[in-house]
Amino acid sequence: MSDRTGLLNKKRQLRTDRPLWAASPHISVEASATPAHRDYDVIIIGSGISGALMAQALADGKRRILVVDRREPVRGSTMASTAMIQHEIDVPLHQLGKMIGEKNAAAVWRRSARSVRDLGRLVEDLGIDCMFEKRNTLLLAGDEYGARALAEEADTRKAAGLEVDYLKPAELRQRFELDRTAALLSDCSASANPAQLTAGLLIAARTRGVEIVSGVTITDYRETRDGVVLATSDGRLLSAGDVIACTGYEFLTEMQHPSHQIVSTWAIATKPNAPRPAWLKDFLVWEASDPYLYFRSTPDGRIIAGGEDEADPKAHLDKDKAKLKFERIIKKLEVLLGVEIGKPAYGWAAPFGTTATGLPIIDKVPGCDHVHCVMGFGGNGITFSKIAAELLAARLAGKSDPDANRFLYPA
Ligand SMILES: Cc1cc2nc3c(=O)[nH]c(=O)nc-3n(C[C@H](O)[C@H](O)[C@H](O)COP(=O)(O)OP(=O)(O)OC[C@H]3O[C@@H](n4cnc5c(N)ncnc54)[C@H](O)[C@@H]3O)c2cc1C
Repeated sequence: MSDRTGLLNKKRQLRTDRPLWAASPHISVEASATPAHRDYDVIIIGSGISGALMAQALADGKRRILVVDRREPVRGSTMASTAMIQHEIDVPLHQLGKMIGEKNAAAVWRRSARSVRDLGRLVEDLGIDCMFEKRNTLLLAGDEYGARALAEEADTRKAAGLEVDYLKPAELRQRFELDRTAALLSDCSASANPAQLTAGLLIAARTRGVEIVSGVTITDYRETRDGVVLATSDGRLLSAGDVIACTGYEFLTEMQHPSHQIVSTWAIATKPNAPRPAWLKDFLVWEASDPYLYFRSTPDGRIIAGGEDEADPKAHLDKDKAKLKFERIIKKLEVLLGVEIGKPAYGWAAPFGTTATGLPIIDKVPGCDHVHCVMGFGGNGITFSKIAAELLAARLAGKSDPDANRFLYPA
């Protein structure tokens, strides 16, 4: 149908085993097996957190909007997420400034913080029951960023208008009983059950007229003078004024670029009421090491932790490797926190998207005016999905956003 040969995008195994959230209540979203219409104002491909936030941002009861997914709603990478909803971007501000310029870097960090706050307000307004909780973050010095780098980071963040405290070893030991050379403490992050959050957003969008279809793959598209025509796996042609590909790590073939990679990552969750320090209920913790370790707790007292990333995009499929990775994550946690955790109740592995700058790609597909793409790659993919929904809702409404040009597909 288009000039392209091959598929719209590559299907991947987006997670192995059963992640913690698969057992949650309230994650089912009613979906039809076929689209009710042929023509839409907007078609959103993908019903993960990116598609859900997009649908919610566009749902106005006037436009005809379709969300279409080859899987059941909420069954992609979002189900694997550890859902630390951070404003802190993977590449520290003082480093990002060197890559994209200080002004741009400060602007995207501030936007990230604002979007976490906006997401919290949205969840509250819609009354979504998804364990959404405000959290502080603790970034621990490690072998990648030590005390000196964290001090520079603190100064850079303060200059950009972001709240942060630099903690010296004595204070870190006194307040957290952690033995590291430094840490950064900041507020304005959050955590949630990502499956319940996404299902809640989709249900809210559906009540405002958004149609949701599952079990249908979009196989191809072509831009025409009037919009976009899409081909589906069940032999239909659909048309839309605009198409938004929220396909996660199954990104569109046209969006391939050396600046982003799919790697492998691992995560675990303990049983409820795991031995853990009391302060952890208010914090997300990230260790600035390579490989990194990150962790948080849930309201029922589980510890969720992850990291151990490897560059091989298929390593997550190796079950023997997964066992070793889970053991390593637990061991690191036990040593750092001084508690005995034992065997995890859940362990899962997944592909994970990274970019050189730690920033998402939120842009039109090259050569298209009406096909848009959301690639919330990086450790704060959920925050990036929120930013994408804000930017693209403004673009489709013909409004400008001061940050619209800060997340573009690299030239
Ligand atoms: C282990 C792990 C831990 C993570 N931890 C965090 C964290 O702590 N904090 C954070 O912010 N982020 C985290 N992330 C990242 C975050 O989870 C992702 O950025 C986010 O879930 C991606 O959501 P999405 O909606 O873009 O993709 P998905 O949830 O994968 O949804 C995309 C959907 O598109 C559908 N699709 C694709 N192609 C087609 C097609 N051609 N036709 C029809 N449907 C199609 C797929 O079936 C899929 O359901 C983590 C990720 C992983 C894997």
